[in-house]
Amino acid sequence: MRIKKSIVRNLSNLPGWRTNQKIVVLESDDWGAIRMSSKEAYDRLFNLGIKPLNKDEERYLKNDSLASESDLTNLFEVLHSVKDGSGKPAVFTVVAVVANPDFGKIKDAANKEYFYEPFNVTLERYPQHANSFELWKQGIREKIFLPQFHGREHLNVHSWLKALQLNNPDTRSAFEEQVYGISPRDPINRISYQAAFDIIDVGEIEYQKTVITEGLDLFEQLFGYRSTFFVPTNGPFNNQLEKTLHEGGIKFIGTSKIQKEPMGNEKYKRNFRYIGQKNKFGQTYLTRNCFFEPSSHLKNDWVDSCMNEIKIAFNWNKPAVISSHRVNYTGFLNLTNREKGLRQLKTLLKSIINRWPDATFITSEELGFIISGK
Ligand SMILES: [Zn+2]
Repeated sequence: MRIKKSIVRNLSNLPGWRTNQKIVVLESDDWGAIRMSSKEAYDRLFNLGIKPLNKDEERYLKNDSLASESDLTNLFEVLHSVKDGSGKPAVFTVVAVVANPDFGKIKDAANKEYFYEPFNVTLERYPQHANSFELWKQGIREKIFLPQFHGREHLNVHSWLKALQLNNPDTRSAFEEQVYGISPRDPINRISYQAAFDIIDVGEIEYQKTVITEGLDLFEQLFGYRSTFFVPTNGPFNNQLEKTLHEGGIKFIGTSKIQKEPMGNEKYKRNFRYIGQKNKFGQTYLTRNCFFEPSSHLKNDWVDSCMNEIKIAFNWNKPAVISSHRVNYTGFLNLTNREKGLRQLKTLLKSIINRWPDATFITSEELGFIISGK
């Protein structure tokens, strides 16, 4: 690690809650969202000129999809294979959306209205996914794959529907492939379709409150318990939504250390956040301090860099909260991607336990309860 980067990484661990325990939390985002519907869809969109903007978008569009049955069973095998000091297996906090657009109904309504479907209904249309939802429930029972709330869908409904109504060509072509998570070449505004809680106008916040309320209720219907931990898709969200989250049962909020709060009219407020910080509703903020993205080319040794970040966290008596997106573990579009991701995950988990035999694997929710003393 370069010296400047190392200093920043050390300093960023200074503020907030501390512990002598060696706590490891694995937070994995984006589960339940479509991203790319098939390899063929990617190729057809690519041939139409709808291409990733950069290497990072490329890794998502080429590799990230709803997890197939074998994606889930292979991941579960790795999580079970490494046990912590108390004999518990590794556990993913699965930061999940619970719905996707209902493309058929939206089309029938001539894009005038938005409809969504629970993600387990989306799974039924996929070729290697018929039993995927049952596997999610198995992961919950085995306490290795525990969903929390990322939003209702990984989609800014307002901007996307507007682009469809304006007949934006790239948005429309992606729609035909049952895909929404692209960056159109000729966007109607600067909002990312992936950022569900970004806004152009403050008036959109009222709709976003219903997105949260309905999403949290659907979450409970699907998984049989209420979510307590929320990570907003892509980060930005207006803090008026915290009250809605609180009323919906959210006790812990995952944010970046600098939270970007959209205020409308292209204005953003930057709020400084640290682990254990509380808001006026008594909700506790949880921040991540380690990163593991083996499908990214940004680093060539993700195990080594993540181990170093964990070491720094422990040196400052902080829990290691590792950010690792679903894209690293899906092989439905590209099997090699999954094999590489899981191999490195296994190495990382084993390295953690070898180096710190007293480390414990817990979920974000458990960490939240430890921090808030409840
Ligand atoms: Zn996400």
